[in-house]
Parts: sequence; structure tokens; C-alpha cells
Amino acid sequence: MRTLTDNFGRQIEYVRLAVTDRCNLRCQYCMPAQGIDIVPKEELLTFKEMYRLIRVLTELGVKKVRLTGGEPFVRKDFVGFLEMLSYNDLLDAINITTNGALISKHISTIEKLEKVKNINLSIDSLRADRFNEITRRAVFDEVFSTLEALEKSRLNLKLNVVVQSGINTDEIRDFVRFTKDKNIGVRFIEEMPFNGKGLRETQENWTFKKILNEIKTEFKVQEIQSEKSSTSRNYSIQNHLGTVGIIPAFTRSICNDCNRIRITSTGTFKNCLFDDGVFNLRDFIRNGASNEDLKALFLSLVKEKPENGFIAEANRTKGGVSESMSTIGG
Ligand code: SAM
Ligand code: SF4
Repeated sequence: MRTLTDNFGRQIEYVRLAVTDRCNLRCQYCMPAQGIDIVPKEELLTFKEMYRLIRVLTELGVKKVRLTGGEPFVRKDFVGFLEMLSYNDLLDAINITTNGALISKHISTIEKLEKVKNINLSIDSLRADRFNEITRRAVFDEVFSTLEALEKSRLNLKLNVVVQSGINTDEIRDFVRFTKDKNIGVRFIEEMPFNGKGLRETQENWTFKKILNEIKTEFKVQEIQSEKSSTSRNYSIQNHLGTVGIIPAFTRSICNDCNRIRITSTGTFKNCLFDDGVFNLRDFIRNGASNEDLKALFLSLVKEKPENGFIAEANRTKGGVSESMSTIGG
């Protein structure tokens, strides 16, 4: 089988697909209060087009897909798409990143879909007022009850916490404490400037190292051997059922083992979070490309995967990093 291997010998096995650029929340680190300019519906990939792109990628060795956005559950019949994608027998896992505000009524259906394995739920504060301020929407109670329902479900639950200088850093240890009796992974993410020109000023740089040091002030941690391509470095905490992880999203110390590519909701192919998009797949397929054409294209595109996120950023042609994560598919 022909497989997707880049020029650094990295085998691409994971695709992150943004199923929409729309979102029901307005997280301060992701977009401005008025939201971002969303694209007309016709410019979004249809579910059929997404299914096809994923199918072709799995025929080239991709095994996992993460569905993200925007907020995936904002897109009409997203659950139907999960069912559709489950028919792809070459896929080992379908994972989802969600803000959790719209999913409680879907959990039992999702649980029945065997290929759906992991849910990453974004929750940046355990305090209702603060959470609502960060997301600019009063949805804490709903998100927290989703968290509790997911914890009871068969799905693997991870919490995504963006560490925001001067806003929620005093809760890092609260989140670690939260893993005491819960079989969940809490993952702290370095904040990145992908905020749709929200122009945020930060007081301190909360890097991977600083976050880890903050955890160590209270807890005894031991690094866990993670999968080589893991986006986080992970730790067990003495006497805790759950684990913690830190994602060096901005300091980018994990690029060496990157096995991922991305497709945005408008069908832009990205080799790296920090590049500014290398190919418009939507127009390629709408202009009649065959699956064989697509395969040849993917095989050549991954050869352009930059060695790391710093090089990808330096190679950008459309200006510095400022687009919203909601359009890239974080
Ligand atoms: N709406 C869903 C959610 O919030 O989980 C999925 C899309 S969101 C863009 C995916 C992840 O990116 C979330 O965990 C979010 O916290 C994270 N994110 C968004 N903007 C970010 C930024 N500027 N820096 C770091 N992480 C960010
Ligand atoms: Fe929406 Fe997710 Fe961005 Fe928050 S982080 S505004 S929930 S896309």
C-alpha cells in the first residue's frame, strides 16, 4: 500500500478535520466578541465530500480522525455524519473535540458508535462565573453536566484547558486535584495567538515548563510513556486515578514526531497548524478530481510538510499568525 510519508520519514496517520467554522461560544482566546466572518454555506465542505476525503486518506494509511471546528455539534446532522464515517472500515478511531454545550442529548447515540473513542471537552475554568466570562456565554452548568455524563459513559474523556495568563492560572492545581477520583485526563494547553485578531495582551508567558513547575508545587508527578505522536507530555499524579498532560502548542517541542495533517471546514489542506494552508481540496474535487488524482495529490502534499511549526510559521505568505482557531480546527 502507498502510504503518506513526509520528507523527514514521518508517517501520517492522523487527520484533524474541522466540520464547520461556526461556533455557539465566543472564547476570548479564540475569537473576538462579535465573532469571526463566517463563510457562506456553499464554501463549506459537504459531509459527502468530507467522507470521501477521509476515505481516500485511509486508503493511504490514515487510521484516526479528529473532528473539530468551530463547534462540530453546531453543524446540522453532525451525529448523522458520525454514523456515516463509522462505515469506513479502514478507520480505527473517530475522536471529537467539543465545547460540550450542545451534546448532552446525543451522548447515548454516540456511545453506540464503536469507532468513536475519545472526546476532548474544552473547559477552562471550574468556576461558573469565570467560565461564562471566558466563553462570553452562560453555559457553564450545561457543560459541567455534560462532563459528568461523559465521565459515566464508555467514552474516553479528556479535558482541554487553555492556560490563560492572569485569568485561570490560579486553577491549574484545582484541575489537577479534579483528577483525584476521576478516570480522566486533564490537558493544559499553552495559549497561542490564533484568536481571530482578538489582540490579547498577556502578563506572563505560561509555557509548558512553567505549567509543569506550577503542578509540581503541590503534586508528585511521574512522566508516563505516551504514544510517540502524542500532542501532550503526560504525567501520573501520586494517588490520582486520572492523569494530566501539557500540550506545548506554542513552544512546539513535539513537532519531531508529528503524524498529523489538517483539513479546514472549507477544504484547505494544512500540513501544520502554523502554516497558512497549502491546497484547496474543495475546488479540486468540485472540478472533477478522481480518487486516484486525490491520492497522487496527498502523496505529494505531505512531502511539503515542514520540519516543525517554527519553519511552517516562517514560510507563511499571508501574514503572521492571527486567524481564529475556529477556522483552522484546533
Ligand atoms: N469548539 C470546540 C472546542 O472548543 O472544543 C472545538 C474547536 S476549538 C478551536 C479546539 C480547541 O482549541 C479547544 O480546546 C480550544 O480551547 C483550543 N483553542 C482555541 N483557541 C486557542 C488558542 N488561541 N490557543 C490555544 N488553544 C486554543
Ligand atoms: Fe468556539 Fe471552541 Fe473557539 Fe471556544 S474554542 S470559541 S468553543 S471554536
